[in-house]
Amino acid sequence: MFPIYVAIVPPPARPPLTTMLWRGVRRRCAWCGGRGAFFTGWFHKQDTCRTCGIGWHRGYEGFELGAMTINVIVCFGALIVGLGVGVAITWPEIEVAPLLVILGAVALLLPVIVYPVSYTVWQAVDLAMHPPERGDGTPPFR
Ligand SMILES: [Zn+2]
Repeated sequence: MFPIYVAIVPPPARPPLTTMLWRGVRRRCAWCGGRGAFFTGWFHKQDTCRTCGIGWHRGYEGFELGAMTINVIVCFGALIVGLGVGVAITWPEIEVAPLLVILGAVALLLPVIVYPVSYTVWQAVDLAMHPPERGDGTPPFR
C-alpha cells in the first residue's frame, strides 16, 4: 500500500483590525489594501475587489445597513460636535441662523462625501467579524 498524502492549506491570515480599518478609511480593499478596489467612481462599485477578487458584501443580507450605520454615525457625530462648537463660540447670544446654514450644508454634503468610505470601513469591520471562507471569492492565501 502506498501512503495517502493530504495537502493541508492554511486558512487565509486575517490582517489586524487596525490595518483593515486604515485601509477602509483610504477607500482601499480592507483585505488586500488594493487601491480603488471596489469603487470605479464615487457611487459606482463593483461586486468584487479588482486586486484580490474578494466580494465586498459576500452575499450577506443587510450589508448595506452596516455601511449606512457607519455613515450615520460619522455624519451625526460631526453635526453634534459642530453644534456644540457653534454654541460654545457664540455663547451667551447664540447665532442660530449661521449655525443652521452651516450645519444644514454639512448635513447635506457630508453623507455624500463619506459614502464610499462608509462601505470600505464597514467591510473592514465585517471581515474582522466574519473572515472570508473559500466560497467568498478568492482572497489571497498568505
Ligand atoms: Zn482586495
